[in-house]
Amino acid sequence: MSQLKISLIKKYLKSPHKDIAQLLSLVLEKKLAWLIANDDYLLSKDEICALNALIKKRESGVPFAYLSGTKGFYHLDFKVTVDTLIPRPETEILIDIALDLFKQKPCDLLDLGTGSGIIAITLADKNPRWNITATDFSKPALEVAKKNAAHKITFRYGNWFEAVSDKTYDLIISNPPYIETNDPHLSQLNFEPKNALISGEDGLDDIRIIINNAPKYLNENGFLLLEHGYNQQPSIQKLLSNNFHNIQLFKDYNTVDRAVLAQLK
Ligand code: GLN
Repeated sequence: MSQLKISLIKKYLKSPHKDIAQLLSLVLEKKLAWLIANDDYLLSKDEICALNALIKKRESGVPFAYLSGTKGFYHLDFKVTVDTLIPRPETEILIDIALDLFKQKPCDLLDLGTGSGIIAITLADKNPRWNITATDFSKPALEVAKKNAAHKITFRYGNWFEAVSDKTYDLIISNPPYIETNDPHLSQLNFEPKNALISGEDGLDDIRIIINNAPKYLNENGFLLLEHGYNQQPSIQKLLSNNFHNIQLFKDYNTVDRAVLAQLK
């Protein structure tokens, strides 16, 4: 364990510890500007102890969002727990695509595998008149999403479409698990729920289920919008080709292939 003996804010701020300012902010419940303006503040024994515990967790790789319990996404802050994926900025592209597609028109929307609720809740906030349903197979994740929701959203528990067997939608959105079982990058993702990340040998197991079943749950000319892995666009285009047309491919803001939008034939 890091045994920091120093206890003045200004000394901590000079130390090379990762995220030290943010960790100090958490312990002292003060913003960065306060830390800088009060850098001669002497931490109490309890505060030092709490800070050392957080430093130890960060050093063992626990993502900062799991320590703070929140993560920003688009224009909102969301509660996150170890039961939910931590929102990624890449997913924001799905929001832009959906907003651009329907603009101010009404939309019956389904967010499959909502996790902390970021997609459903961000879109509900941008377009309060949209009719939004969000599902998840994880009860604890759904509880987090419900806490995050300031708007009327219908939450349903269940595996993909099993959660919503009785309705059709104008737009189905999902950021499903899409990492390959043996992807070496997984070793850097030890703290997030594996079932929110991994989807079979080629990473496409869940995407296949969604693409194959979506037509039954879409209104005439309805749309399916999916986030996916950097190398999955060609396979996804093939999977879509039977039942969908007007397929549009999108890159994320790092210019990596990241999303696909398709319209029911
Ligand atoms: N929809 C949520 C998100 O985008 C959860 C995704 C997931 O758990 N795969 O963060």
